Amino acid sequence: MSGLLNCVGLTKHYPIRSGVFGRVVGQVHAVDGVSFSIERGETYSLVGESGCGKTTTGRMAIRLEKPTAGSVALDGVDVSGLSGKGLIRFRRRAQAVFQDPYSSLNPRMTVGAIVEEGMLIHGIGGSPAERRDKARETLALAGMPADSLDRYPHEFSGGQRQRIGLARALSTGPDFIVADEAVSALDVSIQAQIINLLADLREKLGLGYLFIAHDLAVVKHLSDRVGVMYLGHLMEEAAAEDLFREPLHPYTRALLSAIPEPDPARRGKKRIILSGDVPRSDRPPPGCRFHTRCPQALDRCREGEIPECAPGPGRRVRCVLYDDS
Ligand code: SF4
Repeated sequence: MSGLLNCVGLTKHYPIRSGVFGRVVGQVHAVDGVSFSIERGETYSLVGESGCGKTTTGRMAIRLEKPTAGSVALDGVDVSGLSGKGLIRFRRRAQAVFQDPYSSLNPRMTVGAIVEEGMLIHGIGGSPAERRDKARETLALAGMPADSLDRYPHEFSGGQRQRIGLARALSTGPDFIVADEAVSALDVSIQAQIINLLADLREKLGLGYLFIAHDLAVVKHLSDRVGVMYLGHLMEEAAAEDLFREPLHPYTRALLSAIPEPDPARRGKKRIILSGDVPRSDRPPPGCRFHTRCPQALDRCREGEIPECAPGPGRRVRCVLYDDS
C-alpha cells in the first residue's frame, strides 16, 4: 500500500475501569485493524453510523489519538511513534476541520488571530505583518471577505465560520486535512457551497482529504473512494462511483437504500430496514460484527475471523458472500 497517507491495522481500545483501584474490567473496541491509504489530491471518505469508529480513525490518522496498535505513515515516514517536536512538525502537514463551527473557534479571538495562531506555533511568516498578509490570503482562499481579519467569529454565519475553520487549517500549508462531519451542522445549500470549496481547494493545492460523514448522500459528490465502517471494522472500500452504483456489503446496501432518490425515474427502490441495535463496542459479537442485524447472515458468519475479499479492481469487502477461497 503506498500513498500520501498510509494507515495500516489501526486499532484503538479504551480500557473500562471499575472500583477504587481502577481495575481494568473490559475494553471498548472503538477501532479494530482498519487499513487504508490516501493519495495526494484524493478524497477518501469514511462513512458509517454514529459510534462506528470513524472519528477515532480520523483522530489516529493525524495523531490526535495514539493508536493501540497499527501504524500511520505520511509520505512513507512512520509517524505512529512521534512525540514532542516531531509531532508538532507532523501537525503542520496534517490538519483538521471539525463539525461544529460554533464551538471550534475561540469567541474571544479575532478571525485574524485564529488563522495566525497555527502559523505562530509552526514558525511560519517572519514578522507580524507577513503573518497578517498570509492570514488575509488564506481567508480569501477560503472565500472570506477582506474585512474579516479584525472581526469576531460570532459576527459570521455557520457557513462562514466553517470557512474560517478551513482557513485556520490551511494556514500551515498542509498536505492532508481530516474533515470530520465538517458540513453536518450546516443547511443543505450551505453544505453544497462548502463541499464545492473543498473540491476547489483540493484541485488548487493538491490536498488529500479524509472526509468523515454519517450521511452517504453528502460524500457522493466529493469522494474519490469510500470506506464503510461498522462497529470498529472497515466493511467495504471501493471507488465512490462503484460503491454507489453497486454496493456489495449488506450493510452498505442498507445504508444506500436509505438515501432519498432525487431522480423520479429511479424512485421506488426498496428500503432495507435493519432490525435491532448496533451491539455494544465493549462486547462486539464474534464472527462478523454485522451478523446480529444482517438480513443475509449464514451460520458461518457467527464465528471466526471474516476474511477481507477483493471482488474486483480497487474493491475490498469483509463478507463471506464474496469469499471464494
Ligand atoms: Fe452478513 Fe455474513 Fe456478510 Fe456479515 S459476513 S455481512 S453476516 S453475510
